[in-house]
Amino acid sequence: MAVDKTQVLAALRAVTSPRGVALTDAKVLSEITASDGKVFFSINVDANEAKAWEEVRARAEAAVRAIPGITTAMVALTAERKPGAAAAPASSHQHSHGVKPVAQHTPHGAPSDSPMGKQASIPGIGSIIAVASGKGGVGKSTTALNLALALRDLGLRVGLLDADIYGPSVPRLTGVREKPTLNDAKKMVPIMRFGLPLMSIGFLVEEETAMVWRGPMVMSAIRQMLWDVAWGELDILVVDMPPGTGDAQLTLAQQVPLRGVVIVSTPQDLALIDARRGIAMFDKVNVPTLGIIENMSYFQCPECGTRSDIFGHGGARHEAERLKVPFLGEIPLHMSIRTSSDAGTPVVDSEPDGVHAAIYRSIGEHIKGRL
Ligand code: ADP
Repeated sequence: MAVDKTQVLAALRAVTSPRGVALTDAKVLSEITASDGKVFFSINVDANEAKAWEEVRARAEAAVRAIPGITTAMVALTAERKPGAAAAPASSHQHSHGVKPVAQHTPHGAPSDSPMGKQASIPGIGSIIAVASGKGGVGKSTTALNLALALRDLGLRVGLLDADIYGPSVPRLTGVREKPTLNDAKKMVPIMRFGLPLMSIGFLVEEETAMVWRGPMVMSAIRQMLWDVAWGELDILVVDMPPGTGDAQLTLAQQVPLRGVVIVSTPQDLALIDARRGIAMFDKVNVPTLGIIENMSYFQCPECGTRSDIFGHGGARHEAERLKVPFLGEIPLHMSIRTSSDAGTPVVDSEPDGVHAAIYRSIGEHIKGRL
């Protein structure tokens, strides 16, 4: 029997809010989506009140799950600073940014004893590392995939999660067009390619759909791609983050139990300023920077192999020294890196004995050493 919105609202009417009225009258509910036994909505409150509402969120989720016919109920608590409002006072639970981008929901299958997803590690996964960049187009996804392959070549069990919800590139970079299936435990089975389990929002929805996702939905999708996937036993899960340092990125950095972040930058000054912002963002949420990679560091002529420092190479190394974070290495701007990644045959896999694979492996060694 299909569950509709009216039934969900009826269940929520029995939940009282800290405002002393029924949750349905507290003017905090988002649009409710109910289809195929799956219900999703968020409770939007002021950042200062977020703590008091967490318990209500949990009760709301339990009330919805108790409706016969419900298979998944996800209730996100979102507590954003109102535009133009002063930053909320920082407390041990609140970020000085003034945003408590919560989504403290426990998706179906997630460890239910964890009030904060951040603390909940993912069973079977040793370390989760993020690959991030301050802005788009610096080669973050290309680097994330080749790095995952390099870590594989170093004997580690590696998976790759494409969390770039706004522009998933893993389908293109790996040439995967299949959709993941569900196993008996109702977990998504990641697509195996190059010996890596892969998951991307691009496997699940059309690219245009991914573009219009809003804050709480983004977090829910990412949490599902983390906790509701049969990853198996992994030493490292590499997460390709969305570029930039906005609220969505901050939420992600805060909610995913990250061991560390690798920042990808190009040598140009502008990109470095963005990279600095990226480092500062992860710093704020106590995720250590494992190091900076300079991508498109220098131009290597495909014919003669001559190197030209067309972008004033070395900026990232210098910046890393200044910020006292490790410098992990330089990747040249090279035609074969571009053509191989755009053809779905990443260079570390297609030319394992080549000079580029060796560079990615050396960066991988650095990272392995730091974990
Ligand atoms: P981002 O994830 O930062 O948006 P991508 O990884 O999608 O960037 O890369 C953007 C474009 O740059 C792609 O066409 C990719 O093939 C190319 N690219 C990335 N790194 C290199 C490199 N080192 N040399 C040549 N082309 C590169």
